[in-house]
Amino acid sequence: MDSTQLEFFKKMLEERRDELLGRADATVSELLADWEGLPDLLDRAGFERDRNALLRIRDRESKLIRKIRTALDDIEDGVYGTCEECGREIPVARMMARPVTRYCIRCKTRMEQKEKVVGY
Ligand SMILES: [Zn+2]
Repeated sequence: MDSTQLEFFKKMLEERRDELLGRADATVSELLADWEGLPDLLDRAGFERDRNALLRIRDRESKLIRKIRTALDDIEDGVYGTCEECGREIPVARMMARPVTRYCIRCKTRMEQKEKVVGY
C-alpha cells in the first residue's frame, strides 16, 4: 500500500471513529433524558427493553471503535494492510470492503473453517 492509500484509509477510519464516538455520547444523554421523564412503571418496562437494545448496539459500536483504533495503530506502525497470519499484503479491494480486517481472505476463511470444526 502506498502513502496516498494509507492516508486515505487513515482519514476514513478517523472519520468513522469520530462518528461512532459522537453517537455514543448522544445515546447516553438521550437515555438519561428519557429515564428522568418517565412517570409510570409500564413505560419503564418499555424503556428497559429499549435500553437493552441500545446497550447491545453500543456494545457492538464500542467493539468496532476498538478495532478502528487498532487499525489506526497499525497505520502508525506501518503494518496496516498486511495479513497478521501469513504476512502477505492484503489486496486494497478487501481493505476497502473491510477497513478493520487484519487477515487476508485466505487466512480468514481458513480460520473460520477451523473455528467451525472446533465448535463441533
Ligand atoms: Zn493471510
